[in-house]
Amino acid sequence: MDIRLVADGPWRFRIEQTGTMRVPGVVLAPRDLLPDEPGDQALSQVARVATLPGIVRASYAMPDIHWGYGFPIGGVAATDVAGGGVISPGGVGFDISCGVRLLTAHVDRAALLRKLPVLMDRLDGLIPRGLGRGGLWHLAGRAQLHEILRGGARYAVEQGHGVPHDVERCEDGGAVGDADVTQVGERALERGAGQVGSLGSANHFLEVQAVDAVYDETCARAFGLRPGLVCVMIHCGSRGLGHQICADHVRAMDAVMQRYGIDVPDPQLACVPVDSPEGRAYLGAMAAAANYARANRQLLADAARRVFLQLAGSGLDLLYDVSHNLAKLETHPHDGARALLCVHRKGATRALPPGHADLPDALRRFGQPVFVPGTMGTASYVMTGSTGNRAFDSCCHGAGRVWSRHRAHRETSARQLRQELAGVGVSVRPASWRSVIEEAPEAYKDVDAVVRASQHNDLGRLVARLVPLGVLKG
Ligand code: 5GP
Ligand code: MN
Ligand code: MN
Repeated sequence: MDIRLVADGPWRFRIEQTGTMRVPGVVLAPRDLLPDEPGDQALSQVARVATLPGIVRASYAMPDIHWGYGFPIGGVAATDVAGGGVISPGGVGFDISCGVRLLTAHVDRAALLRKLPVLMDRLDGLIPRGLGRGGLWHLAGRAQLHEILRGGARYAVEQGHGVPHDVERCEDGGAVGDADVTQVGERALERGAGQVGSLGSANHFLEVQAVDAVYDETCARAFGLRPGLVCVMIHCGSRGLGHQICADHVRAMDAVMQRYGIDVPDPQLACVPVDSPEGRAYLGAMAAAANYARANRQLLADAARRVFLQLAGSGLDLLYDVSHNLAKLETHPHDGARALLCVHRKGATRALPPGHADLPDALRRFGQPVFVPGTMGTASYVMTGSTGNRAFDSCCHGAGRVWSRHRAHRETSARQLRQELAGVGVSVRPASWRSVIEEAPEAYKDVDAVVRASQHNDLGRLVARLVPLGVLKG
């Protein structure tokens, strides 16, 4: 698809509405963060998303935009439910409800450093990751898996895998309503049964970090963050279950799209009206996968908490848990009124502004915590939702990949990477060095530039900078 990219000031670009686009594209990134490998399709994907039936306002891209399945990663699109708006699994991604949670310890970096190697060894032995290592939770049969799909992190806590405060600090109180287990196929259930409480592949991680800088003291204090404090960041999703659900429902939609008179410029954008049997089926299955992902992060956090209590004499308090791969039915201003929109966030974090009713009481004044992991060798950030966010209260979700996995293997080696990380004092415990190579810091954009661009585009405000001390990789 030919696109007309026009600079709109120093911080963003517009993709002019041409051809079958129903709205313009808005790329919330300065020039040096735009994908620029020859043949890269990410910007064309922004334009193709703009052709989806019922899309409103614009097809947005966050500053960490890169090439994805159907939608770019870092893509945000909202469709008007009453106006025939569609839901597209490619706008959620294969790792449904992949997301990040951040926990704060009661110990400072200086006090932990001596114990860090033992702590990392213990986590290394305990946390299942990589392919085929099972999960922390050995379920009592299918019925319990169904409970997880309906109850998410809330159910995990009820079963003793956490404390009530964890549930208060999860998006949606730990579980999305409307999960429909009957829409989750047999193969998805099989794949999910043994993986609750597991990280998965190497872009997923459990990282011990320290607060390196604070930009907004009042907000940081409310979030429980201060310079030197140790934190644990967990990034993972719905494992094989979410992946299978995405594949199954893309296939089902592909078969019926024509019946709804829908024609998309890319088969990866398969979609159906939100308000259709197939649309509701996907949303029900997606919600089940979202609950699985939240239970998964809950189990991992609970295990890390026990290790911290034993070896560092410190608890871990959940600051927040938020998804960056999800579609949600939300009301937003549209055409001078409030309308029910289906907001797709694909590699984009929901970022509620200060005062939003869905925030926990203790955080409401400050906005929703947004977590922006960088890489295992650089910084990560905590931001907060800001008012004036035009992208349906969405923010970036990471640094964003620049090298393909293939290119990473060409350009770096395990030996080089090990040296580099040892040089910056980060202790890495990989499931396999081969897959960790794909996660080399050089494979990603400059996260400092990504959060700066997010702030300039009113997607969120900076709260604190975190640096890695030790990381478990898939
Ligand atoms: P994704 O959800 O797109 O797989 O990844 C989100 C972001 O996580 C990536 O864009 C990257 O910036 C970040 N990331 C990947 N691996 C690591 C890691 O080991 N540590 C940290 N802090 N961030 C990572
Ligand atoms: Mn993921
Ligand atoms: Mn993710």
